[in-house]
Parts: sequence; structure tokens; C-alpha cells
Amino acid sequence: NNEELAAKAAASDADSGAPTIFDKIIAKEIPSNIVYEDEKVLAFRDINPQAPVHILIIPKLRDGLTELGKAEARHGEILGQLLYAAKIVAEKEGIVEGFRVVINSGASACQSVYHLHLHVLGGRQLKWPPG
Ligand code: C5P
Repeated sequence: NNEELAAKAAASDADSGAPTIFDKIIAKEIPSNIVYEDEKVLAFRDINPQAPVHILIIPKLRDGLTELGKAEARHGEILGQLLYAAKIVAEKEGIVEGFRVVINSGASACQSVYHLHLHVLGGRQLKWPPG
């Protein structure tokens, strides 16, 4: 289907190291609805929300982290900071009692932007298993 084809196309571009749309969001060249920011991470609302609260958290410096499947030991600190930022964001959004953090890694998981990002989802009853 279209979603799978788009995911495969995005994945084939991923290894080029080319900038992604998230670089423009970080540089504030395109507008985004920022909900949290510190020195290392940026959190903003997803333009195509899958829940009443749907926020993306990204490292400001990609540093080779196109996808979680490419992570190396040196990324451990930023990965921890991203996960902790998810908790801060959940608290700010009033969903800390029930929320989900998702990372799509690679084409089979329908990753579409090759700059690692956490999805923070909440504000409704979430179902399991996900699709
Ligand atoms: O995990 P995946 O790579 O599929 O997620 C990318 C996410 O980035 C999507 O949920 C999409 O809606 C979001 N996005 C966005 N703003 C853009 C481009 C993509 O919020 N300009």
C-alpha cells in the first residue's frame, strides 16, 4: 500500500545523511508548535496527530542517529535525555498518568523521517497491540 511504499522510499534516502524536514524545524526556518525545548532536545506537536496529544521529541544534533537501529554506545546519553524529556512533556500536557512513547525504526516500522524521534501519545484510551 501507499504507506509502505512511502516508508521504503524514505528509508532508501536515509543513508545519504541528507538534511530532513526536522533540520528546518530545529533552525526555525519552518514553523512548528514547540512545547518543550532545552539545549539538547526539541519537542513539538505532530502535524498529523494520532491522539489528542501527539508530540515529537528529537535531538537537536542528529549525529548519525537517523534511526534507533543505527544507534551506537556514544548515543546512550542523548537517548536517555530524549526519554526523560518524554516524561517532562507528558507532565506538561497533563497525561503523565497514561501515555505511550513510540519510536519507529526503519521501513518495516513505517519510519518516514530519518532523524530519530520519539512519539509521545496520549489524551485518549490507547489500544494494544498497535498496528
Ligand atoms: O515515525 P515516523 O518517521 O513515521 O514519524 C514522522 C512523523 O513526523 C509523522 O507522525 C509526521 O506526521 C510528522 N511530521 C511533522 N511535521 C512535518 C513532517 C512530519 O510533524 N513537517
